[in-house]
Amino acid sequence: MQLIPSKTPKVIKQLFPNYIWDLSANGKKKLYLTFDDGPIPSITEFVLEQLNQYNAKATFFCIGDNIQKHPKIFNQILSEKHAIGNHTMNHLKAWKNNLDTYIKNTLDCQSVIQEHSSDRNTQQLFRPPYGQISRTKFNELEKLGYKIILWDVLSKDWVQDILPKKCTQNVIQNTEQGSIIVFHDSQKASKNLTLALPEVLDYFTKQGFVFDAIKL
Ligand SMILES: [Zn+2]
Repeated sequence: MQLIPSKTPKVIKQLFPNYIWDLSANGKKKLYLTFDDGPIPSITEFVLEQLNQYNAKATFFCIGDNIQKHPKIFNQILSEKHAIGNHTMNHLKAWKNNLDTYIKNTLDCQSVIQEHSSDRNTQQLFRPPYGQISRTKFNELEKLGYKIILWDVLSKDWVQDILPKKCTQNVIQNTEQGSIIVFHDSQKASKNLTLALPEVLDYFTKQGFVFDAIKL
């Protein structure tokens, strides 16, 4: 994963036009922060507090198992008007699980999301764990009404041997209008996230950008 570029190359976006890589077509000075792998006590709460300070909205790609373990934090995400996406029930790898297992795990996550949401949370956003997806799985998810959200910019906050400052730079140097940016509200990423996120929020707010939740 260290070899993945922080900025998704244009050629990759063109090769896979059915996936959503950015929302630059919206034509507004907006950025889309996304947080994968939560909800997790204290870390997700830290993220929500930071977002509140900047009046920023974001999208949380939650793991179903974590929603079941921490429903109160999940409810806080919803009540603060952020968007929710499906990140499978158990963070499955698309290339190591067959179609039936993968789809069932995604639907299990969806059931947990529905169970803990009011009916206003109706959009079906899906981010495949590890960014792994295949044509057959994409087709099936599309049939079920999912929009597959990948990214324009990776902070790489999960990488253990880089400094938080590098994560901030990854985002600041690569972000442009409409960028979808990846952070993780996970234990593993917390060291980098807690330092980089406030800097990113501060920098782009001063540049006049608005952080919005993904609404399709
Ligand atoms: Zn993930």
